Amino acid sequence: MAEVYQRLAEHLDRLPDGFAPSEDGAEIRLLKRLFTPEEAELAVHLTLDREEVGAIAARASLPEEEAKERLEEMAGKGLIFSAETEGGKVLYQAAPFVIGIYEFQVNRLSDGFLQDLNDYWSTVKERKEPKTINQLRTIPINESIDSRLEVLPYENVYALVEAHDRFAVAPCICRSRAKKLGKGCDAPIDTCLVFGDFADYYVRTGKGRHISKEEAKELLVKADEANLVLNPTNSMLVSAICCCCGCCCGILKSLKYASKPSEAVASSFIVEYDEPKCVGCLKCVERCQMEAVTADVGGVRLDKDRCIGCGLCVSTCPTGALNLVRKPDRGEKLPETFFDTWRAIAKQRDAA
Ligand code: SF4
Ligand code: SF4
Ligand code: SF4
Repeated sequence: MAEVYQRLAEHLDRLPDGFAPSEDGAEIRLLKRLFTPEEAELAVHLTLDREEVGAIAARASLPEEEAKERLEEMAGKGLIFSAETEGGKVLYQAAPFVIGIYEFQVNRLSDGFLQDLNDYWSTVKERKEPKTINQLRTIPINESIDSRLEVLPYENVYALVEAHDRFAVAPCICRSRAKKLGKGCDAPIDTCLVFGDFADYYVRTGKGRHISKEEAKELLVKADEANLVLNPTNSMLVSAICCCCGCCCGILKSLKYASKPSEAVASSFIVEYDEPKCVGCLKCVERCQMEAVTADVGGVRLDKDRCIGCGLCVSTCPTGALNLVRKPDRGEKLPETFFDTWRAIAKQRDAA
């Protein structure tokens, strides 16, 4: 039985951003907590391509009915992704551990799961793989961008919302988890915006609720007011927009630990500081989640290496002393959809 979990761990490790082994096998304990042996056996037959049950059942040598029932249960438990076509067919797809299985556990945060997760993340072996495609990118809210600056469609958060017709909101798992552990901040919890197929999946599997386009936009404004960084999926058509705080969010915390977050982040912008305009109110110090601006004699000190271009400090600076400017063009070509981003990362890891 242990062998199937080992195969599943290796399978997940081949997906975007992987599932690296830990020092003492904590990843196997975590998988045993999430998957039954039968589910683990079926999960290894899913790929990043969306497929009908017949193809998966054939590879797994299972009767179609049995495979269908199991896949539905697994989608409900957030172990795989599923999408319904306009014709009513259900397609199934493997989900990476992050972003995917971890986030999909938002309504299943048992004490045991949190303990296993903590054991895994505190003992996981660090990887030294070169990485050039991030799953998320950081963008400012429109109000932080100078109207004279040309903004590309994937940098315009309201345009990202406008491109969709189905919207849902779910609790942020990072802040929910922190709260359950007696830590965490006071930022709002219901802030994970999901769109299109992702929205349908979240609602169908009881992880979120549908909202209107206007509610989605209002939520972004409230997130900005609550000092949350907007992190959409790194694709032209986004599947989700995470609204992240620097204290609970795993992604921002790992960026914080990077020696130069400005190089590790996917972002088009960086902030510039016009010192003579500063009146020393320190609002920007409170807003910045990356500790890129700190109090200094008569004003603030900006460490550009720590700036991820989120624009939080810009929208509340009363004197216009902080402004976003475009970073040098890195010739980035964004994948069309988030699933294309997953495929591009998987391809890059295969080639590494
Ligand atoms: S990545 Fe950010 S928004 Fe998404 S679940 Fe984590 S903290 Fe919440
Ligand atoms: S918010 Fe603006 S004025 Fe206030 S300390 Fe920061 S840079 Fe200076
Ligand atoms: S200085 Fe901080 S708040 Fe301002 S854009 Fe950079 S990371 Fe965001």
